[in-house]
Amino acid sequence: MANPEPDKTARLLIRNIGLLLSGDLQKPILDADAVLAVDGKIAAIGKEKDIDGAGASVVDARGTTLMPGLIDSHVHPVAGDWTPRQNQIGWIDSYLHGGVTSMISAGEVHTPGRPKDVVGLKAMAVFAQRSFSAFRPGGVRIYAGAPVIEHGMVEEDFKDLAAAGVTLLGEVGLGSVKDGATARQMVGWARKFGIQSTIHTGGPSIPGSSLIDKDIVLAADADVIGHINGGHTALPDDQIVTLCEKSSRALEIVHNGNEKAALLTLRTARELKQLDRVILGTDSPAGSGVQPLGILRVISMLSSLAEVPAEIAVCFATGNTAKIRKLDCGMVAAGRAATFVLMDRAQHSAGTNVLDSIQRGDLPGIGMVIVDGMVSTQRSRNTPPATAAPEIVKGR
Ligand SMILES: [Zn+2]
Repeated sequence: MANPEPDKTARLLIRNIGLLLSGDLQKPILDADAVLAVDGKIAAIGKEKDIDGAGASVVDARGTTLMPGLIDSHVHPVAGDWTPRQNQIGWIDSYLHGGVTSMISAGEVHTPGRPKDVVGLKAMAVFAQRSFSAFRPGGVRIYAGAPVIEHGMVEEDFKDLAAAGVTLLGEVGLGSVKDGATARQMVGWARKFGIQSTIHTGGPSIPGSSLIDKDIVLAADADVIGHINGGHTALPDDQIVTLCEKSSRALEIVHNGNEKAALLTLRTARELKQLDRVILGTDSPAGSGVQPLGILRVISMLSSLAEVPAEIAVCFATGNTAKIRKLDCGMVAAGRAATFVLMDRAQHSAGTNVLDSIQRGDLPGIGMVIVDGMVSTQRSRNTPPATAAPEIVKGR
């Protein structure tokens, strides 16, 4: 399905939901078995008998679990659904089959011949923002146009970018600005004009990038401590703990990072009672490839190895990210985007139910993805098969 836009008169009732995960850390499980979407937004959540589904298309969840669509907080898109890093076509559509319905660019840094002069990098950012906002493979929403800051940029450049619709910076540190003072000044200019920032954390990712240590991260004070667990090379443990303690910014854990450092980050955030700062990304496509199931894998890894209840781990990739990134998706709440994943325990998982299976380290099976109130995919081609899968019982 290419570029579906919500039908302004569409009503979709999802009933017979076995378990409803809200994506909200404050109340991760809702006592409800039905959700009504109208015009692509959530109109009602509750018991089916209390919801007026007249005239709606109907999905029978068949007792499966509904959660908000997953958000990948760290991707590197380039052009359309193609990545030159691994020369692969269709990667975004593959992620949809891993439950990812929103993606945030940390810079279109794999663009062949990426311009590094100020006029060129600004032009590329505006182009990427426009191009990806108009291109939604399978309905996936891609927030892109994330310029990488370079020496020579002045305050006016950030004003121009914001006026042109740019809302993100690419990873600070991937360009020529690698010192804390300059980074802080430019991050401040970006923030002044409503542009959110992310910083590369840890050792170099690919030839051409370089080490960003805790002192630079703290000095730059970007909104998101990008891949705090390294991408791939992590900082020493004491530096990761210091970042958790001394900064109040978001702690982004990525699939393409150091798993031991990811667990340290999560445990430290939990000790600080700041789990609301934890968000998840894949940091892909990259040298490690394309990971359609990357976000599900991080949820499962953190839940099983750091002993986090699965319904809480889901919040890291949904409500937490939505709040920090100021998105209208990521939580099952009235007025939010009607964007959901329906999943079940994978066939033959040792887990007794979907949450138990994730806490044992298995991946769930996805049976359906709904974007803006429309069914985008049915049984995933990429996850292990779900034990039970929803079905469309009344379509228009
Ligand atoms: Zn990076």
